[in-house]
Amino acid sequence: QAKANGRGIWHPYTRELDNRANDRHRQEDELRQAIADERFEIHYQPRYRSAGLHIIGAEALLRWPHAERGLLLPESFIPLAEETGLIATLGNWVLRQACRDAVAWPDGLVVSVNLSPLQLRHEQLLDEVKAALAESGLPASRLELEITESALLQENAGTLALLSSLKALGVRLAMDDFGTGYSSLSNLRTYPFDVIKIDTSFVGGMQQNAEDHSIVRALIDLGRGLNLQVTAEGVETAEQLRLLQADGCTEVQGFHMSRPLAADALLTLLARRTP
Ligand code: C2E
Ligand code: MG
Ligand code: MG
Ligand code: MG
Repeated sequence: QAKANGRGIWHPYTRELDNRANDRHRQEDELRQAIADERFEIHYQPRYRSAGLHIIGAEALLRWPHAERGLLLPESFIPLAEETGLIATLGNWVLRQACRDAVAWPDGLVVSVNLSPLQLRHEQLLDEVKAALAESGLPASRLELEITESALLQENAGTLALLSSLKALGVRLAMDDFGTGYSSLSNLRTYPFDVIKIDTSFVGGMQQNAEDHSIVRALIDLGRGLNLQVTAEGVETAEQLRLLQADGCTEVQGFHMSRPLAADALLTLLARRTP
């Protein structure tokens, strides 16, 4: 009456190195297939004007709902997508989907899309942005592209030309994670940015750590002096929000106001908030 089952069958182990190479291959295949099937989601984290805490837009944050591993965050698959070059296709999908989602939002709200350094080196990016706007009907002024400093690291005349062309379309440009990378202030002078996003790490430390607070204040002043919007990211407490408001930071984003939300949950929030 004992049932025959697969339990206890011995599987010979392949060598460790083979395993690792196979793992990587399997992950790459899986990622490629998920991109082909468009099995990704975008979550949107609202961004607020500091004064009055009105929602002024939201940042598109990529998620991969994985059958075995649950909802995967970007840190667990973006590096592989970058190494393999798959980020070009995936990034273009994010761009198109984010524009399609954002047309349903109340007028004037801006959607921010993160660009990988690799996307900036592809000449078709300009055409992809134009196509995403045209097919969705989203006005260019409601799209913001977020770029990290590392993307600007390779001095490249092409990058300046590309960013200027994007700017000429009417899209907004944000410098993401400002202060964490190879911060060169001249980047702010050279490239036509509209927004500086202060990195989560400084905002997280500003309550306990006087140095972090000084850096945040300096970045806010810098933004004001250069006529740029300043968004503080990673606002987790009421006290951080209060300090940022007092220091004159114009925009805030963080778990204290809202976590990233699925597209329909954001719509519900917007419907509740907007008269
Ligand atoms: P990021 O662009 O700097 O995005 C902000 C990150 O901070 C997000 O993490 C967000 O969930 C998190 N965050 C927001 N508020 C808080 C807070 O109050 N506390 C803390 N501790 N964290 C907060 P997420 O979604 O895991 O994304 C991580 C990074 O992955 C992003 O950093 C961005 O660089 C990258 N990424 C996300 N989506 C895309 C995409 O579509 N394309 C590319 N190329 N990169 C993406
Ligand atoms: Mg970002
Ligand atoms: Mg950031
Ligand atoms: Mg970041």
